Amino acid sequence: MVNKPETIYTIDMIIQKILDEEKQYDLSKIISSYEFAAKAHANQFRSSGEPYITHPLAVAYILLEFGMDTDTVCAALLHDVVEDTDVTLDEIKKLFGQDVAMLVDGVTKLGKIPLFTKEEQQAENVRKILLAMSQDIRVIIIKLCDRLHNMRTLCYRPAAKQRNTALETMNIYAPIAHRLGMKTLKDEIEDLAFRYLDPYAYSEIEKMLQIRSDKREAFIESIKKQISERFLEAGFEKVPQIEGRVKSVYGIYKKAFMQGKDFDEIYDKYAVRIIVDTVFECYNALGIIHDMFRPIPNRFKDYIATPKANMYQSLHTTVIGREGIPFEVQIRTWDMHHTAEYGIAAHWKYKEGISGKDKLEGRLAWIRQIIEAQQETDDVEEIVRTIKSDLSPEDIFAFTPKGDMITLPVGATIIDFAYAIHTEVGNKMKGAKVDGKLVSLDYQLTTGEIVEILTSSDPNHGPNRAWLDICKTNEAKSKIRSWFKKERREENIAQGKAELEKEFKRNFIRIPEEELSSFLADDMKRHNCSKIEDFYAAIGYGGVILSRMMQRLKDKYQKYYAEPENAEQKNQNAVRKSSSGVIVEGQSNIIVKFAQCCNPLPGDDIVGFITKGHGVSVHKKDCPTYVNAMKNGTEPERWINVRWANSTSNAPTFRVTLDIVAKENILIIADITKLMAELHIPLTNISVNMLKNGNANVFATINTAGVSQLNNIIARIKKLPDVLSVDRSVKQ
Ligand code: MN
Repeated sequence: MVNKPETIYTIDMIIQKILDEEKQYDLSKIISSYEFAAKAHANQFRSSGEPYITHPLAVAYILLEFGMDTDTVCAALLHDVVEDTDVTLDEIKKLFGQDVAMLVDGVTKLGKIPLFTKEEQQAENVRKILLAMSQDIRVIIIKLCDRLHNMRTLCYRPAAKQRNTALETMNIYAPIAHRLGMKTLKDEIEDLAFRYLDPYAYSEIEKMLQIRSDKREAFIESIKKQISERFLEAGFEKVPQIEGRVKSVYGIYKKAFMQGKDFDEIYDKYAVRIIVDTVFECYNALGIIHDMFRPIPNRFKDYIATPKANMYQSLHTTVIGREGIPFEVQIRTWDMHHTAEYGIAAHWKYKEGISGKDKLEGRLAWIRQIIEAQQETDDVEEIVRTIKSDLSPEDIFAFTPKGDMITLPVGATIIDFAYAIHTEVGNKMKGAKVDGKLVSLDYQLTTGEIVEILTSSDPNHGPNRAWLDICKTNEAKSKIRSWFKKERREENIAQGKAELEKEFKRNFIRIPEEELSSFLADDMKRHNCSKIEDFYAAIGYGGVILSRMMQRLKDKYQKYYAEPENAEQKNQNAVRKSSSGVIVEGQSNIIVKFAQCCNPLPGDDIVGFITKGHGVSVHKKDCPTYVNAMKNGTEPERWINVRWANSTSNAPTFRVTLDIVAKENILIIADITKLMAELHIPLTNISVNMLKNGNANVFATINTAGVSQLNNIIARIKKLPDVLSVDRSVKQ
């Protein structure tokens, strides 16, 4: 699947696909979107060497396969023009309307969100993704298809990029696809990502699957034959669709490694799926299956009566065939099948788009809940955990005394149940009865139980801090925290202060009271606290989790406060640095001396050479030692940027590595080096790797004054002959 050369999509394929569909499309709007995008992307190329337009075409084609509407297909064709070309959103709005412009804007914004960059930004970025999703779900569907095509063509990207993209796919996009019920897409991006993250395990599993495929197919065929004969006898008008099912490679990996199961146990687990027309036929079919084969107790699950959180519906049962081999049977209607495969996208493919608004609203409620829960924390790990944990397919279903169903994750307690009904019910809860019996607060609910929450009429009654450790859902946690945040500020400050003091004591940190704010400044800023009281309060209600920042604080304490001899050493270094008057980029404590050969003076253009064990020696840039070293290419990595400490001339300050892909060209390094010299941009390192497809991948590290200058540099590099793409590299 992955090694196969990727299809190159053309507009003719799109047109043919549209003509084959029963659905009505505005063909001329789609064609003019294509023509507009093709013109805007003219002269741009993918890393694979194909014209850039093949990518938007591929995304549009995938969206057509999902049955998405005209505007979504147009937006897919246009999804990269605002980002990568001179076209503005206003132009798109004028030409293709408000809806298309809104979708393009949403996808462009999502594309600008770096998911695994600076820790502090991640929370904000994940929040932006969810917000964009809650505004128009088509935005994330386009983004997921964009990611799918990028994953299919990931082999053309540099190795460092592959890993990051794969991680991002696994951690963020696959869970979102799962939550939206888009199983086919989720399985594919997960398998593709897995292949880059653990290539060895991937090929191992793939090999095993191939070896056993004959045996599996023979077994499935015989089961299919038995079932269809029996169905005809039982009076079904037509033979239902019966198909064998193969698990995804990553699905097998997860089962094997995460649940510690034996490979054989998983490989030899056969599964068939029966698709019928009505719900009545589902149960009828189940009866026949249980009559034909012996059902394994406790393996029957009715996801028709109680659908999963992502709206998945089916009957599941495991039975033992005549040969003594157990196999799983899934039974569902066509409607349920479409939802199981395409999830939310099935609304466009098989129904009338978003018209079924109520159902859709229900599906999107979880997005809003996560966004709300996130207002309470800036901790990235926490947010990513929220997305993942709230996505767990293992749900339980409990009921209110009136029979309303509440869906909760496994392990949820009556506290979670109370908060799931309503915030006020949770805040006023004093206990609960399960199936008529009083239970303790940490009672874990199971499917089918009827839960009656007992509330207090005392207006001062509120939750207890200990509940935070008992409850399971992020929803309940964030509601409890927010109650404490609002209702108990004084108490929070006292509690937070006490907790901080205790932690400091435990870690032997002693900071004078008046220096505390400056010592904690970074963490306070991270949590938007301007006063130390706010920070205490945040610790008190649980918005700031101390244990997560202690290591950092300990390091900081060691550095600035701990031992007096360290402080002395620090002073000496400062003197040494200022006495030389030279700043070595990226190094604060390093010995600097001046080279005898050229004896540079302040104001001269200078460059540093990393000596073996004697720090950095500074040469003039026109010193023959340096000029010759550059000419001969001897040890270029030991030459580094230095500058005079007091030079106020707009000194470059940021080091950036550019990741450049170009067609094979032996002069590419020379071109880039020459361009940097022309632009007076210090180039500190440059290297080139040949990619498998023959393209050259250049990593050039430069110093730049800032983003606007950087963008200018990138634009200039893009204009060099044979350059295909230029990106900021994640590799430093
Ligand atoms: Mn794209």
